[in-house]
Amino acid sequence: MSTSNYFRNASAIALTLAGTGLLASCNGPPGPKPPPKLEAPKFVEQLNHDLVDLNREANAAGWTQATDITVDTQYLNSKVTERYLEYFSRKAGEAKAYDKDQLDAPTARSLNLLKLGVSAPAPADATKRAELASLTTELDAMYGEGKYCPPGTNKDGRKTDCKNLDELSDTIATSRNYQELTDAWAGWHTISRPMRPKYQRFVELANEGAKELGFRDVGAMWRAGYDMPADDFTKEMDRLWMQVKPLYDQLHCYVRARLHDRYGDKVQAATGPIRADLLGNMWAQEWGNIYDLVAPKGAGDLGFDIGELLEAKKKDPVEMVKMGEGFYSSLGLAPLPATFWQRSQITRPRDREVVCHASAWDLDNKDDLRIKMCTKVNSDDFVTIHHELGHNYYQRAYNQQPYLYLNGANGGFHEAIGDFIALSITPEYLVQIGLLDRSKVPSADKDVGLLLRQAMDKVAFMPFSYLVDKWRWGVFDGTITPANYNQAWVDLKLKYQGIVPPVQRTEADFDPGAKFHIPGNTSYERYFIARVLQFQFYKAACDMSVWKGPLHRCSFYGNKEVGQRLNQMLAMGASKPWPDALQAFTGTREISGRPMLEYFAPLQAWLEKQNAGKQCGW
Ligand SMILES: [Zn+2]
Repeated sequence: MSTSNYFRNASAIALTLAGTGLLASCNGPPGPKPPPKLEAPKFVEQLNHDLVDLNREANAAGWTQATDITVDTQYLNSKVTERYLEYFSRKAGEAKAYDKDQLDAPTARSLNLLKLGVSAPAPADATKRAELASLTTELDAMYGEGKYCPPGTNKDGRKTDCKNLDELSDTIATSRNYQELTDAWAGWHTISRPMRPKYQRFVELANEGAKELGFRDVGAMWRAGYDMPADDFTKEMDRLWMQVKPLYDQLHCYVRARLHDRYGDKVQAATGPIRADLLGNMWAQEWGNIYDLVAPKGAGDLGFDIGELLEAKKKDPVEMVKMGEGFYSSLGLAPLPATFWQRSQITRPRDREVVCHASAWDLDNKDDLRIKMCTKVNSDDFVTIHHELGHNYYQRAYNQQPYLYLNGANGGFHEAIGDFIALSITPEYLVQIGLLDRSKVPSADKDVGLLLRQAMDKVAFMPFSYLVDKWRWGVFDGTITPANYNQAWVDLKLKYQGIVPPVQRTEADFDPGAKFHIPGNTSYERYFIARVLQFQFYKAACDMSVWKGPLHRCSFYGNKEVGQRLNQMLAMGASKPWPDALQAFTGTREISGRPMLEYFAPLQAWLEKQNAGKQCGW
């Protein structure tokens, strides 16, 4: 799954829009005097009422722009977005009036969610608000427009072509020439250097805004979305990381050895950290693109490809989505509404520019569900469909909740649902839906290949998703100072991932800025949490199905109890602390890395054998 897949959830439009840093609206002329203070529950009721209409309009404008990009649709969308965010900021300010009041639990929860609705809160001072708004827009644009222009000229004397992230990422994914890889890595990491002073100022201003809302700093504010004191959440992250670290260490050790085989001592030593440019991904966050370099002999060939199976059965994109819907229907969930099929964008239209990046929408926050994809008949998109539909079913399940509760139970839940369903796309499931011939189900000795392919993405991602906000929390709370921005990032990558940059770094560099979520100011801990949760959900569903056998072979397709319990959790939305939601489905209130370890247990044993006698670690 690609990085960008993580930015798909359009249901939580408040968070999504805030993530883009669009706070320009706060720079308007001073509004009328604030209205007299309402009773807190009345204030919340009013919010929930107003936000429904505002959001309906923002969704319509957002959808129109995303499926037909023109100067005019962009203009209309940004106007509506401004209005929506202006309302959010103003009300978050007004909500401070209730800070010292004794409030009932739902009212307190709603006001807290309101405050968390903007990821970079602006200070009250109008000049500073304006400055923050323009910084966030500039940082966003610097990333979006980032290009690396290699020095020199082509054979015909023209200046060498500049390359954007797509092109450079493609090189990182497919090239096996280390000089090309280093050049692509170093090239992309030049685009973020000019962000550095802007980011530093952005941190100061956003922190000021967070303090005005009553938080210690922006990082503490983000962690406040997890229904526990900010420091306890940090400890939870540490605990989960320590659970899965032994598995990561084995994977690191094995992959390092294969890269050493391939590239030799001069490029990749047999001991110590791995070079960041050799792992198939610009940030070395998911390594599936180099599976061919690490595939075990014999078991490496998985024996079938879902894309080829779909083509053999002449399935088109709409039928692929029908198959995805079929999974959810098999659990007893109601079919998608007729409007889903009329209004979704399932394939790329031929006559206009669109945002192809997959996303799931609920336009009216009731049942105007849609997906927006440019689906191709291949394995990745088949998985992505299951993932996106997970968002849609979640959105519909919680549609009875008041507006402020129209969201996942915490940042990780929304992303985890679709991924957990997608884990159930096992060979056995493909047999059940008639895509794969039973005789073609890979034998148990192929499991190592299947699991290794999964682990290259899912396990490799764990330390990365853990450290991004380790860095940012440190930046926001001041333990990482501007003089040390880059070194601190490099140190964290080394400490947790065991990864080093392929070329010398200095404090003139700003490597964190070369990752979208830093200039884009989108919190990252949610992806770490989602990765842990999806295995926990999967294990719970397999237990309900009384699955006997290795966990990774389980499919809960067709199990109505799973559907019913799942729906109970989804219907809660963000109305209750997340442990309540977790308990509704899994029976436990504690988030745990153990199911992930169980899923990968056969791989871990195999890796330990391969690594025997080697000095693992770095
Ligand atoms: Zn998603």
